[in-house]
Amino acid sequence: MLQAEKNFGILTDDIIQQIEGIVGKSNYSTTLAERELHSKDQSMYPPSPPDIVVWVETTKHVSNLLQLANTHRIPVTPWGVGTSLEGNPMPIYGGILISFQKMAQIIETYTDDFQVTVQPGIGYKDLNGTLARQGLFFPPDPGANATIGGMIANNAAGIRTVKYGATRDNVLSLQVVLADGRILRVGSRSVKQSSGYDLLHLITGSEGTLGIITEATLKLAPIAEHKIAVQAVFDSVAQAVETVVAVRGSGLDPVALEFIDTYMARMMNNNPNVDLAESPQLFMEFHATHEDALNQTIEFITEICSDIGAHKIHATADTKERANLWYARHHALESFQRTHPGKRAYLNDVAVPISAYPDLINFIHTLRETAPLPAYMLGHAGDGNIHVIFPFGDEEEYKIASELNAQVVEQAIAMGGTATGEHGVGIGKSRFMAQEHGDALDVMWSIKQTLDPNGILNPGKIFRD
Ligand SMILES: Cc1cc2nc3c(=O)[nH]c(=O)nc-3n(C[C@H](O)[C@H](O)[C@H](O)COP(=O)(O)OP(=O)(O)OC[C@H]3O[C@@H](n4cnc5c(N)ncnc54)[C@H](O)[C@@H]3O)c2cc1C
Repeated sequence: MLQAEKNFGILTDDIIQQIEGIVGKSNYSTTLAERELHSKDQSMYPPSPPDIVVWVETTKHVSNLLQLANTHRIPVTPWGVGTSLEGNPMPIYGGILISFQKMAQIIETYTDDFQVTVQPGIGYKDLNGTLARQGLFFPPDPGANATIGGMIANNAAGIRTVKYGATRDNVLSLQVVLADGRILRVGSRSVKQSSGYDLLHLITGSEGTLGIITEATLKLAPIAEHKIAVQAVFDSVAQAVETVVAVRGSGLDPVALEFIDTYMARMMNNNPNVDLAESPQLFMEFHATHEDALNQTIEFITEICSDIGAHKIHATADTKERANLWYARHHALESFQRTHPGKRAYLNDVAVPISAYPDLINFIHTLRETAPLPAYMLGHAGDGNIHVIFPFGDEEEYKIASELNAQVVEQAIAMGGTATGEHGVGIGKSRFMAQEHGDALDVMWSIKQTLDPNGILNPGKIFRD
């Protein structure tokens, strides 16, 4: 029943001429170089080039392209900047790839409402660079300079999600083009919305399989004046993870609460700019409008960490020291390359309720003891999210990594968690969807068929072929 539509049409010269008529001569390419550039994201899946890359400039371009593609049953895959980690934007059936590189403007900032309306191709770091002049920022932070369209489509999250929520919690309204070319507006600029079915949050996280986003209105937050980063180092994984639960239950409001295991810390130290204690540890960040409040937080967090047995607690308000700590976290994948040159990373991403987090980490810790491959753990612990990285070189190691990944995913689902906390389903997690969602997956498929009856939008993702 969940068989994806496969009898797609061929991109003929006549259709290419019609695409030229829609977007103009300079806004498409069928060269091998461009097709290869858009054939692969940051995941480990083999490249799969589109037949044509099209750069859209307007919503009308997208609408006309989709009408054309739908008529001829040509697959269409939207593309942000390809930083996904599960093959989400890879055009595995070829067809038309739509790039939003030329739709990257801020349309309007509503300073009094803490809102901004943007085009989907803008990078969130670029957006935040501009918003900083007004003392505002868009909180979700996936690390890579992802586009807003890619973040919404993947419901990306990151180190600040523990306080501000994922992308889904920070989107107010979208302009969306459906597979048949209809242009919809879903959601509104009101922060309270109780009107009709929640199409806004159906499109968010749908990975380009239900509609293409051409405009988004986002919630913003004020940039805090006072910030501290805290590093707490423990003798055991159990102590570090117990502290995560204690901090979450304490009433403190961390902006970031990250867990790093000994192996990960050791790997990070292979970067010459990083010098971490090689023990399980937490990186935290707290913000406040008054210095006094922050000093109280330091006292409280120090007490919690030392009661549980931290042997080093370092709190700093120094901008450079804070940046150094987060540098280590954000350059984890670079440290992986230094540690395992020539190998690739099989990156796991699961999340569980916070009370189950210690058991999940313990499960992974035990699994590692007998695993035939190294395993490194780091995660957005504050929201129950963990990533395990397995290095692999050849086909045999890939199979082992895939099996270890499956064991972690199945354990997370069994604990009431999810197969993916933030990277999305893409290609890689589709095999776990039936286990996680049961009959709800059939309902998802019905929605897909209603909105995209020809199955042209990002085929082969979320649902298994
Ligand atoms: C070093 C590194 C660290 C990362 N850390 C995190 C992290 O902490 N948290 C996290 O959540 N992710 C993380 N990621 C993954 C990635 O950055 C996010 O998933 C991000 O949202 C992808 O954005 P993108 O612009 O690259 O989109 P792409 O990868 O190009 O596309 C993502 C998905 O969105 C769809 N899409 C793109 N534009 C549109 C549109 N306009 N309309 C509809 N669909 C669209 C695509 O078809 C695809 O399904 C990390 C990646 C890297 C490389």
